[in-house]
Amino acid sequence: MVDYCALQNEPINFDLGFTCPECGDKGRPIKIITLKSLLVPSALAKLEPSASYKMCTNKACSVVYFNERQGVFKTIDIKVEVYTKSEDEDCPVCYCFGWTKKRVLQEFKETGRATALEEITAHTKAGRCGCDVNNPEGSCCLSNVKCLLESITKES
Ligand SMILES: [Zn+2]
Repeated sequence: MVDYCALQNEPINFDLGFTCPECGDKGRPIKIITLKSLLVPSALAKLEPSASYKMCTNKACSVVYFNERQGVFKTIDIKVEVYTKSEDEDCPVCYCFGWTKKRVLQEFKETGRATALEEITAHTKAGRCGCDVNNPEGSCCLSNVKCLLESITKES
Protein backbone atom coordinates (compact mmCIF):
# COMPACT_ATOMS: atom_id res chain seq x y z
CA MET A 1 0.00 0.00 0.00
CA VAL A 2 1.41 3.38 -0.99
CA ASP A 3 1.22 5.97 1.74
CA TYR A 4 1.35 9.52 0.49
CA CYS A 5 1.20 11.15 3.85
CA ALA A 6 4.66 12.05 5.10
CA LEU A 7 3.47 12.38 8.70
CA GLN A 8 3.32 8.67 9.23
CA ASN A 9 7.00 8.34 8.43
CA GLU A 10 8.17 10.61 11.21
CA PRO A 11 9.85 8.53 13.91
CA ILE A 12 8.42 8.82 17.38
CA ASN A 13 10.68 7.87 20.27
CA PHE A 14 8.56 6.70 23.14
CA ASP A 15 8.76 4.22 25.95
CA LEU A 16 6.32 1.70 24.56
CA GLY A 17 6.10 -0.71 27.47
CA PHE A 18 2.73 0.43 28.81
CA THR A 19 -0.79 -0.61 27.89
CA CYS A 20 -4.33 0.83 28.05
CA PRO A 21 -5.30 0.88 31.77
CA GLU A 22 -8.87 -0.06 30.84
CA CYS A 23 -8.54 -2.87 28.31
CA GLY A 24 -4.83 -3.76 28.11
CA ASP A 25 -4.48 -2.79 24.44
CA LYS A 26 -0.86 -2.14 23.45
CA GLY A 27 -1.93 0.98 21.59
CA ARG A 28 0.02 3.05 19.12
CA PRO A 29 2.16 6.12 19.83
CA ILE A 30 0.52 9.49 19.38
CA LYS A 31 2.23 12.85 19.16
CA ILE A 32 1.37 15.41 21.82
CA ILE A 33 0.31 17.93 19.15
CA THR A 34 -2.62 15.67 18.24
CA LEU A 35 -3.88 15.75 21.85
CA LYS A 36 -3.33 19.51 22.10
CA SER A 37 -5.38 20.01 18.96
CA LEU A 38 -8.23 17.64 19.68
CA LEU A 39 -8.87 17.57 23.43
CA VAL A 40 -11.79 19.62 24.72
CA PRO A 41 -10.68 22.45 27.03
CA SER A 42 -11.53 20.62 30.28
CA ALA A 43 -9.50 17.60 29.15
CA LEU A 44 -6.62 19.69 27.84
CA ALA A 45 -6.35 21.21 31.30
CA LYS A 46 -5.34 17.74 32.55
CA LEU A 47 -2.78 17.01 29.84
CA GLU A 48 0.65 15.91 31.08
CA PRO A 49 2.95 17.27 28.36
CA SER A 50 6.01 15.39 29.62
CA ALA A 51 4.25 12.01 29.49
CA SER A 52 4.19 9.62 26.52
CA TYR A 53 0.75 9.09 25.04
CA LYS A 54 -0.62 6.21 23.05
CA MET A 55 -3.96 5.65 21.35
CA CYS A 56 -6.04 2.63 22.34
CA THR A 57 -6.87 0.70 19.15
CA ASN A 58 -9.59 -1.46 20.71
CA LYS A 59 -12.90 -0.34 19.18
CA ALA A 60 -14.91 -1.52 22.18
CA CYS A 61 -12.87 0.50 24.70
CA SER A 62 -13.91 4.08 25.51
CA VAL A 63 -10.33 5.15 26.21
CA VAL A 64 -8.87 7.09 23.28
CA TYR A 65 -5.51 8.20 24.68
CA PHE A 66 -3.52 6.93 27.65
CA ASN A 67 -0.10 7.55 29.14
CA GLU A 68 2.39 5.58 31.21
CA ARG A 69 1.07 7.20 34.41
CA GLN A 70 -2.44 5.70 34.12
CA GLY A 71 -3.79 8.99 32.73
CA VAL A 72 -6.57 8.50 30.19
CA PHE A 73 -8.70 10.58 27.84
CA LYS A 74 -11.96 9.04 26.69
CA THR A 75 -14.18 9.60 23.67
CA ILE A 76 -16.09 12.37 25.50
CA ASP A 77 -12.81 14.26 25.98
CA ILE A 78 -12.22 14.57 22.23
CA LYS A 79 -13.62 17.44 20.14
CA VAL A 80 -14.48 15.14 17.25
CA GLU A 81 -16.02 11.72 16.93
CA VAL A 82 -13.28 9.11 16.75
CA TYR A 83 -13.54 7.01 13.60
CA THR A 84 -11.82 3.97 15.06
CA LYS A 85 -14.26 3.96 18.01
CA SER A 86 -17.48 4.81 16.18
CA GLU A 87 -20.23 3.00 14.29
CA ASP A 88 -21.94 6.30 13.41
CA GLU A 89 -22.39 7.04 9.71
CA ASP A 90 -21.93 10.76 10.35
CA CYS A 91 -18.48 10.15 11.75
CA PRO A 92 -15.70 11.54 9.54
CA VAL A 93 -13.36 9.07 7.91
CA CYS A 94 -11.27 11.89 6.43
CA TYR A 95 -11.08 14.73 8.96
CA CYS A 96 -9.10 17.14 6.78
CA PHE A 97 -11.34 17.22 3.73
CA GLY A 98 -14.73 16.44 5.22
CA TRP A 99 -15.60 12.94 4.11
CA THR A 100 -17.97 11.19 6.47
CA LYS A 101 -18.76 7.50 6.18
CA LYS A 102 -22.23 8.54 4.99
CA ARG A 103 -20.91 10.82 2.24
CA VAL A 104 -18.64 8.08 0.89
CA LEU A 105 -21.47 5.53 1.01
CA GLN A 106 -23.98 7.92 -0.55
CA GLU A 107 -21.76 8.88 -3.46
CA PHE A 108 -21.08 5.27 -4.20
CA LYS A 109 -24.77 4.35 -4.02
CA GLU A 110 -25.83 7.23 -6.28
CA THR A 111 -23.06 7.25 -8.86
CA GLY A 112 -21.32 3.91 -8.50
CA ARG A 113 -18.14 5.87 -8.06
CA ALA A 114 -15.93 6.70 -5.13
CA THR A 115 -14.05 9.91 -5.75
CA ALA A 116 -13.10 10.22 -2.08
CA LEU A 117 -9.91 8.24 -2.49
CA GLU A 118 -8.75 10.16 -5.59
CA GLU A 119 -9.65 13.49 -4.04
CA ILE A 120 -7.97 12.86 -0.71
CA THR A 121 -4.90 11.35 -2.39
CA ALA A 122 -4.57 14.43 -4.61
CA HIS A 123 -4.82 16.76 -1.61
CA THR A 124 -2.27 14.83 0.44
CA LYS A 125 0.13 14.67 -2.52
CA ALA A 126 -0.19 18.44 -2.81
CA GLY A 127 0.80 18.71 0.86
CA ARG A 128 -2.54 20.05 2.08
CA CYS A 129 -3.42 17.46 4.70
CA GLY A 130 -3.21 18.24 8.41
CA CYS A 131 -3.67 14.76 9.77
CA ASP A 132 -1.65 15.32 12.93
CA VAL A 133 -3.97 18.10 14.10
CA ASN A 134 -7.29 17.04 12.54
CA ASN A 135 -7.40 13.26 12.74
CA PRO A 136 -7.60 11.77 16.27
CA GLU A 137 -5.38 8.95 14.99
CA GLY A 138 -2.75 11.59 14.27
CA SER A 139 -1.98 9.96 10.96
CA CYS A 140 -3.13 9.76 7.37
CA CYS A 141 -6.72 8.60 6.85
CA LEU A 142 -6.12 6.96 3.46
CA SER A 143 -5.89 3.42 4.79
CA ASN A 144 -9.23 3.87 6.62
CA VAL A 145 -10.81 5.27 3.44
CA LYS A 146 -9.47 2.32 1.46
CA CYS A 147 -10.84 -0.18 3.98
CA LEU A 148 -14.22 1.54 3.96
CA LEU A 149 -14.36 1.45 0.15
CA GLU A 150 -13.36 -2.19 0.12
CA SER A 151 -16.17 -3.02 2.53
CA ILE A 152 -18.69 -1.14 0.34
CA THR A 153 -17.62 -2.78 -2.91
CA LYS A 154 -17.69 -6.18 -1.26
CA GLU A 155 -21.28 -5.66 -0.15
CA SER A 156 -22.64 -4.45 -3.48
ZN1 LIG B 1 -8.47 0.56 25.79
